[in-house]
Amino acid sequence: MQTKLLINGELVTGDGDALAIIDPATGEEIASVAEASSEQVDAAARSSEEAFKAYSKTTPAERSALLSQIADCLEANSTELAELESLDVGKPWPSAHDDEMPLTIDTFRFFAGAARTMTGTAAGEYVAGHTSMIRRDPVGPVAAIAPWNYPLMMAAWKLAAPLAAGCTVVLKPSEITPLSTLRMAELLSDIVPKGVVNIVHGRGAGVGSQLINASSVEGISITGSPETGKAAMKAASDQIRHVHLELGGKAPVIVFDDADIDTVAEVVRYGSFFNAGQDCAQPCRIMVQDTVYDQVVAAVEAQVKEIQIGKPKDDGTEMGPIVSAVQRDRVHGFVERARGAAEIVCGGAEGNGSGFFYQPTVVANVDNNAEIACSEVFGPVVTLSRFSDEETALQTANAERYGLASSIFTKDVGRAMRVSSSLRYGFTWVNTHGVGTPEMPWAAMKGSGTGCDMSVYALDAYTSIRHVMIAH
Ligand code: NAD
Repeated sequence: MQTKLLINGELVTGDGDALAIIDPATGEEIASVAEASSEQVDAAARSSEEAFKAYSKTTPAERSALLSQIADCLEANSTELAELESLDVGKPWPSAHDDEMPLTIDTFRFFAGAARTMTGTAAGEYVAGHTSMIRRDPVGPVAAIAPWNYPLMMAAWKLAAPLAAGCTVVLKPSEITPLSTLRMAELLSDIVPKGVVNIVHGRGAGVGSQLINASSVEGISITGSPETGKAAMKAASDQIRHVHLELGGKAPVIVFDDADIDTVAEVVRYGSFFNAGQDCAQPCRIMVQDTVYDQVVAAVEAQVKEIQIGKPKDDGTEMGPIVSAVQRDRVHGFVERARGAAEIVCGGAEGNGSGFFYQPTVVANVDNNAEIACSEVFGPVVTLSRFSDEETALQTANAERYGLASSIFTKDVGRAMRVSSSLRYGFTWVNTHGVGTPEMPWAAMKGSGTGCDMSVYALDAYTSIRHVMIAH
């Protein structure tokens, strides 16, 4: 198994502490990966600064070719990468191989095209005797930090856009799920010019913190929890740096009385429990209009009770384990604190076996202000609560501190337009939830972050607008 870091074009063993990597489906150690030492983090940051000088001068066409080459290489190795992802995170094999790998590869393909789309205001004489032109140049070397829920896909989001923009990157995957990213590091070492991508491994408080505070870093890009986002903002404020944050979410699913209830229940089954619910856009806070509340609870219960939990490669496994014992206990804590005030319709307990399994859980009759309705649980748990009318639903949803994903279920087009225009969320689906494509932004508002990943708008985080004026 590849456990080396990529620093300045070389694959090197970490000089820091060895961290055990655990198989969530069994609780057993699958690998030991040494963290980068402080000197190695420094070396990675310096390498990306040095490489920026030449890489930032490459043409969009050259960067596009590089991104296409990365996509082809990942595609050629997609079975092996999906194996690592499934093992490290406990993902059911079809999710890792058929759902996530194609999106990961397509992210690089999309940004291969996006690299060639950057345009600006027309050059011209805005002051007599002076010609002005707009440039959109790369911000500089970027420190990129990724979470554990979709390790390789998040690495793709953190790499493809800055590389398209002409930035070099030092990427740190999550310390608990580094395996697919480290294998990608090995693959990239044959393709990417020295120093353009560096990959280091280690814990957030040590390696991550040093990286985002490195003086050579000009941009900080984080996908992770709000706490890590705050650490990034502090680091950015110390040195005045660009900061791009994609943080937690708590997606409201607003179900009106004219919704197709079977569709709602299917979306909950296949969306809320995908990746064991460890998804920033998870449709988790189901708000239902009073008149159809009981029907929706019954339909959701029937669907969720069908979900088969098991090991990633077992036949029929729809949901695997939670990523770690710590995360499973955290999820269970939310459910236990809700018990009593709300009704546990199904689940609410650990699964069988030595892995970190947790039963798909539905909690009904949840107060809209309850902890479990307002905080990100990040596990296989959904809540159902009631609302009386459109205005109340909007107020309740918008009162939340998060602002990432949201959805509305209704057959009334006017209502869909009205409510989606008033929701303060980076994205809103109507009559579906969770469908993503690289052409469209994965956008954050409020406590969920700033800017977006994917789409041409992601390039904004990695480019600076400049004005050049020539007197003549
Ligand atoms: P986390 O914040 O604990 O860790 C994320 C990464 O940040 C890890 O690599 C970690 O080592 C690093 N980190 C932690 N502290 C740091 C510090 N002080 N300085 C620098 N780096 C530090 O998050 P997690 O538990 O890995 O992931 C789950 C969170 O990520 C959830 O809140 C989820 O919603 C969010 N997430 C958001 C999106 C999105 O697109 N908005 C996508 C996936 C996950």
